[in-house]
Amino acid sequence: MSTTYTLKTYHRCSYGAPIPRSGLVHRSKREGALLFIDLDNFKTLNDTLGHEIGDLLLQQVARRLESCVREDDTVARLGGDEFVVLLEGLSEHISEAAEQTEAIGEKIIVALNQPYQLAEHECHSTPSIGVTLFNDHKQTMDELMKQADIAMYQAKKAGRNTLRFFDSKMQENVDLRASLENDLRKALDLQQFQLYYQIQMDGMGRAIGAEALIRWIHPERGLVPPFQFIPLAEETGLILPIGLWVLETACAQLKAWKHDALRRDLTLAVNVSARQFRQADFAAQVQAAVQHYGIDPTRLKLELTESMLVKDIEDIIAIMHTLKETGIQFSMDDFGTGYSSLQYLKRLPLDQLKIDMSFVRDISVEGGNNTIVQTIIAMAHSLRLNVIAEGVETEEQRELLSFYGCHHYQGYLFSKPVPIEQFEALLK
Ligand code: C2E
Ligand code: MG
Ligand code: MG
Repeated sequence: MSTTYTLKTYHRCSYGAPIPRSGLVHRSKREGALLFIDLDNFKTLNDTLGHEIGDLLLQQVARRLESCVREDDTVARLGGDEFVVLLEGLSEHISEAAEQTEAIGEKIIVALNQPYQLAEHECHSTPSIGVTLFNDHKQTMDELMKQADIAMYQAKKAGRNTLRFFDSKMQENVDLRASLENDLRKALDLQQFQLYYQIQMDGMGRAIGAEALIRWIHPERGLVPPFQFIPLAEETGLILPIGLWVLETACAQLKAWKHDALRRDLTLAVNVSARQFRQADFAAQVQAAVQHYGIDPTRLKLELTESMLVKDIEDIIAIMHTLKETGIQFSMDDFGTGYSSLQYLKRLPLDQLKIDMSFVRDISVEGGNNTIVQTIIAMAHSLRLNVIAEGVETEEQRELLSFYGCHHYQGYLFSKPVPIEQFEALLK
């Protein structure tokens, strides 16, 4: 997008460098504030009315921003629909400085909420603003920008068209994340992961297998549940080595059961995340593990989620077929929570649908999610797929599921996920 306007007080900020003592923030100990402003609906406007109209909006936003601040303050456009306002010489007292900043922020929100005349179109636009205060020269511009960006994200989360301050709680979350990530990087080497096994039962009360669920046993944090670290592992790419470890550990377990009459028919289900599945050599990794441990591939079941199907579906289908041909099974986890198109569902070489526990939780004789559960079961039958319900906690739920035609179950009614020794004890 071209920038056809000029900003009166444009200072170029050098990222990563400390804020210079002279220059941007030079005045003694007085507080300053950095406001990160993002327009809420800019992309839609750009896409529907065109870039020229988008440019006009940006120009008018810039002018309005300038009219809200003093001569000494800085207004800059970062690119796209992101602006930065740097306020200087605020009160020395942090609470007063925060009040001053909030007042200016509110003024900006009011100004940017006024209708815009863009050529022949009258348009509306709202901003989300993240603010961070500073009063020393220790923080780099880069750090301040990150803080303001986090606060801006909070403003978006709070419903947009609003302002949020970066506060210590946000900082705590950011720090926690950083230290968690740091520890996560070392967790594999330090052998802090463990696989837990949750039994899966059939309608006759027999064990048919288990789902392998990862646990992180941290020396100080204790047992860290997957929802606290799997998303982080996915973002950082650490899910690749971690996922491979899970796969290999599950295969090693199947190997250990191979010559045991009581256990050799058990199937182990392993969760695979999208990022892992999309690796070019994922199928080869699975095949290598199966061969290395010399296991029967039909005992291994990979659990995928519907969210995986939103991108590169053809590639996913191809990988599934490759693995399916070697005997590997597939289950669609958390089924019903995503938006699988029936068109695709028919093309996926699945073996099983796993009814999400949110539906199971609500079924009761009085009605609730019963229709959804019945529909999923009917769908599974017509696609000739096996169906299992997860999160089965009560006998009533199990009976209803059985009545509706679902005869495989997993949930606290039978057992929580447990370490291998306990799982094996359960089988006896
Ligand atoms: P999921 O695959 O849907 O696993 C089922 C989750 O439901 C497990 O949580 C399990 O402990 C819990 N659960 C089972 N039965 C019941 C029940 O009766 N009631 C209730 N309230 N909960 C029940 P967990 O172990 O905390 O795992 C959460 C999620 O983390 C898993 O959801 C899965 O998406 C992910 N995950 C776990 N292990 C792995 C792994 O090795 N790799 C990947 N990529 N993801 C994993
Ligand atoms: Mg699962
Ligand atoms: Mg699930």
